[in-house]
Formats: sequence, structure tokens, C-alpha cells
Amino acid sequence: MNRTVRKIGLILFLIILLPVIIFITYQLSTLNEDEAVIRKIYGDQLESILFSVNQSSEDIVSNWAGDIEEIIQRNDIPESKAMLDSFASSNTAINYIFSVKETEKPEINFYGIKGSDSVRINAVKIIDANKENINKLRTYKRGGYRKIEPVDEADTPGSKTLVFLAQLSKENYLIVGMVIRPIVFVDEYLRPKLQSSAQEKFIINVVNDITGQAVYSTEEMGGLQVQQKKSLWLIPNFSLGILLKGRTIDSLVNERQGENILMLSLVGIVLIIGVIVVFRTIKKEVELAQIKSDFVSNVSHELRTPLALITMFAETLELGRAKSEEKKKEYYTIISQEANRLSRIVNSILNFSRMEAGKRVFNFNPVNLNDVVDKVTGTYDFHLHSKGFEYSVNKDNTLPTVKLDGEAVAEAFINVLDNAVKYSGDKKMIEIKTGTSDQNVYFEVRDFGIGISEENQKKIFDKFFRVQSGLVHETKGTGLGLSLVKHIVDAHKGKIELQSKLGEGTSVRLLFPITKS
Ligand code: ADP
Repeated sequence: MNRTVRKIGLILFLIILLPVIIFITYQLSTLNEDEAVIRKIYGDQLESILFSVNQSSEDIVSNWAGDIEEIIQRNDIPESKAMLDSFASSNTAINYIFSVKETEKPEINFYGIKGSDSVRINAVKIIDANKENINKLRTYKRGGYRKIEPVDEADTPGSKTLVFLAQLSKENYLIVGMVIRPIVFVDEYLRPKLQSSAQEKFIINVVNDITGQAVYSTEEMGGLQVQQKKSLWLIPNFSLGILLKGRTIDSLVNERQGENILMLSLVGIVLIIGVIVVFRTIKKEVELAQIKSDFVSNVSHELRTPLALITMFAETLELGRAKSEEKKKEYYTIISQEANRLSRIVNSILNFSRMEAGKRVFNFNPVNLNDVVDKVTGTYDFHLHSKGFEYSVNKDNTLPTVKLDGEAVAEAFINVLDNAVKYSGDKKMIEIKTGTSDQNVYFEVRDFGIGISEENQKKIFDKFFRVQSGLVHETKGTGLGLSLVKHIVDAHKGKIELQSKLGEGTSVRLLFPITKS
């Protein structure tokens, strides 16, 4: 039987627990990967926002360059000059514009500035220092693309220089420089883009990397750190930073991970509990099947013994082999005792099957437990003495009458008394007692026999259960007695109190509530 149970346990483990354990372990191990993916997605989102801000600042500057090139390409030079002057001074983010024509002797012009020699010198310096960059611009321009490049800082502090080429004729270019004020550029031209990109979800700021100061922020940062940083393409040493408002990406990811772990653990726990419950139920069923088959053999044995005795003594009497009246009387007694025993067994089996089918009906009438005890001990007195038992009955005469099914309670009492007789061994002493306790009336049967181990105390009220060792093994029984007792007590909303110690004896007390009626 144990092998069957073990096999079922193994199967349950293999088909349910093992896949679940593998699944949960796999899920837990991939959580970190998921977390990395989420982080990357967030990172990419932030980066694409910063990219679009950069793109938009390039668009703004590119439009300026387009306008400037268009003005330069006009044929009327004085008019162009005036227009560039007005373009530069009307655009607050532009400090001034200069152009350099690379002839033998470079021809340098300034627009939008009241002429200053120092600026002129710087303009030449800038071109000299950025020869390589300007060559690159030429290559682009030949390819039909006007590129704008920030060049090394060589001009007035607080401004940045952006250079591009304006085409005068084929292979003839004018180098144009826009000297811009980054802070004004950010504040006046980039602000709308920054705000529309940030919306309510993000904070975007622009930081001067050299001073570490934020020159603009869509919102107060309140001591928070940006989560992603990108240089502004057109303004060297200035960068864009972005952060998610409210919760940080890390806290979101951690929260999600926590939730996932919790969910997985819950699923795991529920499944494990489920498997344990299923396993226990199956184990119980297997044990019950075994117990039932024992029961059949126990009952057959139980029935055969009294039948054999009755047959034997009845035949003896029939054949006139009993010589004396005394002997005859003895045989009659045996026959009647054994017939009683038979009917008790058959009754308990019938009652049990009625109880199992839920068909047993109880008739409640006012009954005094002392009367039940008197009646049963009266009937059993001879039986007890003939088995060599000494017994005492200690009745509480103040016992109130309660509503009971007298017959059923008597049956319970007989079963408990019968057990005391069967499992007493050599110490043939029984103490019977009645009394009240906690709004209950009770009777108690105490023996000094083999006792019941603590482990078995929980099981003896189960149907068919019999202790599998020692004296019990040799004593006949069906394992139904105490389950009937329990059923009867439950029907009366009563309680059973069991006290027992292996080798010292057992006391069984059945309590029935005192009903107010
Ligand atoms: P049975 O027909 O085997 O007596 P019961 O349901 O009456 O069935 O009892 C179940 C088991 O509980 C018994 O087999 C026995 O092992 C144990 N038991 C019951 N009463 C006693 C007792 N007074 N002393 C020791 N063991 C007992």
C-alpha cells in the first residue's frame, strides 16, 4: 500500500510540481532579462526625445542659414548687406554674422554689429583654426548639402560660432559664420520644443557642461538627477538632460519585478498546497481501501466465532450430551450471550450503514443519563463479572434530565464499555462515572488497560480504524464502534473527551449539552 502511495506521490511530483518548479525558476531567472529590456525601452524613449530636440534645434539654425544664403545670393550687394544687418540685429539669438571670401587676400565682412577690430581679427583666426572643418563643409556643399558646423571657440565668451558655406557660383563659396548666444537660443527658440517634448511626463533641462549650471529647465528639478544626457549637436559643451517625472525608471522596474515575484510565489504556493491536498486525499483513499478490506476479514471472523459457539452448544444440548441441569444452564447462557454478541455486531453494521447513508434518525426525549448507565450496567453485570472484571459506578444524583435519544446513547455507552473490556489486558478494573461539566451532562468509562498512543488517539474515531499492534491485533473488532459513538455524540451536539496513556489505561467521557426546555 505504501508503495502505491509513494508511486502516486512521485507521479504528482513529476506531472505537476516539477513542471511548476521549472516554470517558476525559469520565470524568476528571466525577470532580470525582462528588467533589462524594460530599462532599454525606457532609455530608448528618453534618447529619442533628446534626439528630436537636437533635430529641431538643427532645423531652426538651418532655416537661418537658408535665409542668409538667399540674401547673399542676391546680386545687389548694398541691399544684401543691409538685409543681413537687419537679419542679424532682429534675431536676438544671433550676436552677429560674418562672411569670409577666400580670395588671395581674404575679404571679410561683418553684419549686424557696429564694427570692431577685435572681432574682425577673431573671425580670421576662426577660419584659420578650422581649415579642416571648412574643407569638410565644402565637400558636403559640392554634394548639394549645406552642413552647419560649430567651430572651435575663438570669439567672445558666452557665444558660439556656427559656420556654413553659401554658394556664390559654381566652385565659388562664401564662408559664413553665425555667432550665436546659446542661452538666448535655448530660452527663446528651443523652449517651445522642449516644453512640448516634456509634456507632463518628463523634465528636460539644458546644462552648460563647463560650469555645470542648468541654463534652462522645463520644470524645477528639486534635487533630482537626470536619467539620460546628450550633447547639443550645434552648441559644444552644452547638453540636454531628461528625467521621468514622479517615479524613476528604476523604481518602476523594481516595483514591477516585486509584483512579478509575488505573483509567481503565490501561484507556486497555491499549486503546492493543491498538490499536498490531492496527495493527502489520495493517500487517505488508498488507506481506506486497505482498511475496508481488513474490515471484511475482521467482520467475517467476528461473525464466525459466536456462530460456531452457538452451533456447538446447541448441538450438544440437542443430542442430550449435557448431563446436569447446571451444565445445561451454562450452555444456554453461552448460547444467549453469543447470540447477543451476534446481534450487537449485526446491529452496529446496520447502524453504521444507515449512518453512512445519512439515514439514521434520532428520537430525542427527556432522559437521565443515570438511567441509561443503570440499564446498561444491569444488562452487562453478568457479562463483566463472568469475564473477571471488577467495576464501580459513581453516579451524580443531581444530574438533570436532558433531551437525548436514549437508545442511541445506550449504544454509545455499550461500545465504550465494550472497548474497556476488550483492551484491558490483565488489569480487569473499570470505573464508571456520571456528572455535569460546563453545561453538559456526561458519563465516563475508565479502564487501566493497554492505553492508546497519542498518534493513534486522533485516528480511533475514524471508521474502520484499528490499532495495528499488540493486544488489539488479537482482539476481535470491526473498527466501527468508536466511529458510531462519534456519530451519535455529534448528532447530540455533544463532545468526546479522551485521556489515554500507553500501558496505563484510557478514560472516555461523552458529554451531552444541557438543553433548556
Ligand atoms: P474495534 O471494533 O476495533 O474495537 P473501535 O472503533 O471501537 O473498533 O475502536 C477503534 C480502535 O481504538 C480499537 O481497535 C483499539 O485499537 C482502540 N481503542 C478503543 N478503545 C480503547 C481502549 N479503551 N483502550 C485501548 N485502545 C482502545
